Amino acid sequence: MKLSKGRIVFCAVLSAFVTAVLVPPLLRVVSAPVLRAAIVPGLWAALFFASAMVIRIPGVSRILYKSRMMRRLQWNRKLRPYRKESRKLKKAAGSSYCPCCRMYIQNFSGFPYPEYPERYNPARYQNTDTQVICPVCGSMPRHRILVTWMQEHLAEIRHVRVLHFAQEHALRMWMDLHRISYQTADLYADADLKLDLEDTGLPAGSVPMIICNHVLEHVSDYKKALRELSRILAPEGRIIISFPVDPALDMGVLEDPSAVTAEERMQKFGQNDHLRIFGSRAKALLEEHGFLAEEIDGSRMRPEIKPVVGPADYDSNVLYILRKP
Ligand SMILES: [Zn+2]
Repeated sequence: MKLSKGRIVFCAVLSAFVTAVLVPPLLRVVSAPVLRAAIVPGLWAALFFASAMVIRIPGVSRILYKSRMMRRLQWNRKLRPYRKESRKLKKAAGSSYCPCCRMYIQNFSGFPYPEYPERYNPARYQNTDTQVICPVCGSMPRHRILVTWMQEHLAEIRHVRVLHFAQEHALRMWMDLHRISYQTADLYADADLKLDLEDTGLPAGSVPMIICNHVLEHVSDYKKALRELSRILAPEGRIIISFPVDPALDMGVLEDPSAVTAEERMQKFGQNDHLRIFGSRAKALLEEHGFLAEEIDGSRMRPEIKPVVGPADYDSNVLYILRKP
């Protein structure tokens, strides 16, 4: 807190000093009284916010981060150190590509599930792909598949506002860099809207596009969540949804009310906070809930994005696009 206050004072004094230097020459060229009156406060405020962003004052940075333009600048600054290496790797044979951060990289890294034996059931992760996480932006295969699809539909997505449940860093970055208008929603984590997926309180038919990745396995009543998604979806809208799917399970979804402890849920569903796992008939299950369901098939994507949904063995390589009939 002390450090933050010190930075604020530093920015305020620095801005005042630079304003004092710049104002006399500006006053000589500006004659309109309104503009002359605005020069000092306007210049000081602009310099204060610019310097606050550069030296990263937490509170001020948060205000600035609400602006899409500032977010784009920040992402670009984070990506800058990787660009040279990416250009080199673009020409190299066998390099991988992340469409979320648009970087060529040597390899994606493995998912560190063995480091969390209390969270992940090792039996479900034995054949996990070793190329999972982007070392630049942290994207996972599901994000790279989704972004590849969104890139193909960019013209239409630019005209709608996306509601993004359980925000994901790589997707936010891609949407900011592509000037997509979106709002994040979460019940527990920091987000634009605090929403319960089972009862959002949003007007019926009001949301034209929803992204809901790996949330349905966590909510207490997935049927209620699907009903709510259907209710808030605009008539021509779309939901892009994914969840863990075990292709070996010949059913829509497996639930077990007797699995109540974290350990039991981890054994049964693969992860200690999953309340269910979906099966090979997940698409039919979504259709039973009144949606038209299409698949975004990762296997049709370019191989260098390593489109295996993962990280668990049981994840199938598909995301779903839902519409109303
Ligand atoms: Zn990336």
